[in-house]
Amino acid sequence: MDTQSFPSINKNRKIGSLIKTSTVDFPGCISAALFLHGCNLRCPYCYNIDLVTGKLNEEEAFSFNEVIAHLEKRKKVLSGFVISGGEPSISPYLPHLLKEAKEIGYKTKLDTNGMKPSYLESILANPKISPDYIALDIKTKPEKYHLLGGAHAPMGEESAGEKIQRSIEILASLPSEKREFRTVLVPGLVNAEDVKEIAHLLPKDASWFFAEFRNDSCIDPAYNNIEAYEKKELDAIIHQAQLIIPKAALR
Ligand code: SF4
Repeated sequence: MDTQSFPSINKNRKIGSLIKTSTVDFPGCISAALFLHGCNLRCPYCYNIDLVTGKLNEEEAFSFNEVIAHLEKRKKVLSGFVISGGEPSISPYLPHLLKEAKEIGYKTKLDTNGMKPSYLESILANPKISPDYIALDIKTKPEKYHLLGGAHAPMGEESAGEKIQRSIEILASLPSEKREFRTVLVPGLVNAEDVKEIAHLLPKDASWFFAEFRNDSCIDPAYNNIEAYEKKELDAIIHQAQLIIPKAALR
């Protein structure tokens, strides 16, 4: 993707929610974090319906121009810019944001669910927009991706499970300090056996962070009745991961 082929955008339209200063979203950087609206998945446990469906809270939402103005204004204090979602790779604003932030002097981080591996490859191949750091969400083992809403591919097309495998391979080819993997431990979607299978797909030097499931305001209301893993169960799952990926940890 060259910069001439970026999709056209309306720079005054509200595009997402901005955390103006964050110390937790980008390892080693004080950053601003933009959460672009819209997503190509409907994970049943997702607790941010408004973000996923693109319902904007006008007071919290920022336009492209407003985001860039904030980055310019805070460039002496901030060093990182995180683009998250939703799913940023479906947004026409993503390449423009990466390019402008880099030009101002920011390190950039992209959070993605890995459902657009070819696009991810094309971004990484372009030095003008290539993110400095990528966090890839792995929802479960590839064979269970059909359990996620929005993950069904038309006949003959690459399945969601195949897409996540390809995205894992793309990240595995990056230096370890440029990437991390993340998994929410949702009972029913991710168990100790699934973790073992995922672990075998990851590079041995992977930073792999687990998050606990929250049974609150889930997109699929049935998930509000699922109990999160108890500490003993969590410890056992993480131990299982660490046997294969030493840097696996609960975040
Ligand atoms: S949890 Fe799933 S549905 Fe929610 S924003 Fe992330 S990828 Fe989209």
